Amino acid sequence: MANIDIPTKNVTRSSSGAQHLSADICVVGSGAAGISAALEAAGLGKNVILVDAAPVLGGQAVNAVIGTFCGLYSNGPDIHRVTYGMVDALLEDLIGAGNARYMAARNSVIVQYNEIALSRWVDKTISGAGIRVLTGAVVREVTTADRRIKTLEATSRFGDVVIEAEGFVDASGDAAVVWLAGLPVKEPVDPIYGTQVVLIEGFDEGAAASIDRWEMQDHLARKADEYGLIRKDGFVFTFPGHGIALANMTHIPTPLDPIGYSDTVFEGRDQADRLMAFLKTEYADAYGSARVRAYPAPGIRQTRWIAGCYSLLAEDVRSGTVFDDAVARCSWPIELHNAAEGAHWEELGDNHIHTVPLRSMLHPDTDNLVAAGRCIDADTVGLSSVRVMGPCIAMGAAAAHALSLAGSGSVHQIDLNALKSAISDNLERIDAFPGF
Ligand SMILES: Cc1cc2nc3c(=O)[nH]c(=O)nc-3n(C[C@H](O)[C@H](O)[C@H](O)COP(=O)(O)OP(=O)(O)OC[C@H]3O[C@@H](n4cnc5c(N)ncnc54)[C@H](O)[C@@H]3O)c2cc1C
Repeated sequence: MANIDIPTKNVTRSSSGAQHLSADICVVGSGAAGISAALEAAGLGKNVILVDAAPVLGGQAVNAVIGTFCGLYSNGPDIHRVTYGMVDALLEDLIGAGNARYMAARNSVIVQYNEIALSRWVDKTISGAGIRVLTGAVVREVTTADRRIKTLEATSRFGDVVIEAEGFVDASGDAAVVWLAGLPVKEPVDPIYGTQVVLIEGFDEGAAASIDRWEMQDHLARKADEYGLIRKDGFVFTFPGHGIALANMTHIPTPLDPIGYSDTVFEGRDQADRLMAFLKTEYADAYGSARVRAYPAPGIRQTRWIAGCYSLLAEDVRSGTVFDDAVARCSWPIELHNAAEGAHWEELGDNHIHTVPLRSMLHPDTDNLVAAGRCIDADTVGLSSVRVMGPCIAMGAAAAHALSLAGSGSVHQIDLNALKSAISDNLERIDAFPGF
């Protein structure tokens, strides 16, 4: 056998200094909102840095395996797409390669995706757009001066980084940038539950396909106590031909403290195991031989959000308010996970559309930050509709354009007509649903 050796060298830490980076726009959070903001800003020729605490991009869409894009299409009967931009390539690439498919959902259509394919799509699209990425980097300090965010300090296992930028997008889901800047934020007084999704393999696809979703939900409600399950509703979807099913039938608290978050991981996995026992026993034909394929990251719905210039209200959602400063359209129902035993759903009628105003993404105390995604200002009920990924993507795009228009000025003083014209597809375009 050949002698093999790789020489070593002694090294000692020589400096504790952070690396310094600068950008036109820094986006914190790489979920649906942050990816959209980063791509749109890069498309405008901006030098963009995208930071995420997780080791891989994609936010909850990838790491919590949300499973479907909701809110991309309007309600029927004349279903049309309401969000464009990055969605155009996303649908073309994933559906074209058999890695996503349309599914009927209530009176609209959602898009089920393979999370591994989505993860690679995000990687390639972000790197192809020339966006600098900092993964595994937790933003932990924010400096401000003269109503502007000046720098973010992030820590990764390989050292600290200080990022200076002209504009910032807070797409962290938890309003992390605004919180760290010491500006007012909002939290629900009572918990809004998250979910530990569980991915299942080794089941019988044919038998699983024949189970009626609503019958299973009723059965779960009757049997939940017997299996120690606190949530009594939810669903399992299979992805035909992929050998994977996704169950969204647990409810976990998602507190904003480090120990609490860690406990949530164990609690979620314990609930997922009890759910598996329910499926294997009660639906033995379909799930008798099933195994857990993966426990993704705990899914977090509504935790903390900005105290913005306008709080989107449940009534705005129910009545279909179209704001003068609308930046995103949505038809998704109110879906509030405020009770351990199940979610509160309020379907919105045929042809219903409501909108997200730019003001709910702006903080009154800062000029160069725009929030996007599930940390915009809304009441708990209103947010439970517009936090789905379709409107998050539209908000991300609007955030990039608002910051670009503001430049070194204020996002509160941009030309609204210029913004509307830049994002007109997301306000007006109505491509008909192409069919299943
Ligand atoms: C279980 C569950 C099921 C759902 N089902 C659906 C569904 O079927 N369809 C749908 O469209 N929506 C669904 N939703 C809602 C939707 O998934 C989320 O609201 C949406 O993903 C929010 O996207 P976002 O970009 O705002 O934030 P997120 O996807 O939450 O991304 C935020 C990112 O910010 C990063 N971050 C946070 N703090 C810091 C920090 N200090 N430093 C650096 N990075 C930070 C996080 O690591 C994360 O990657 C579901 C949600 C849950 C929890």
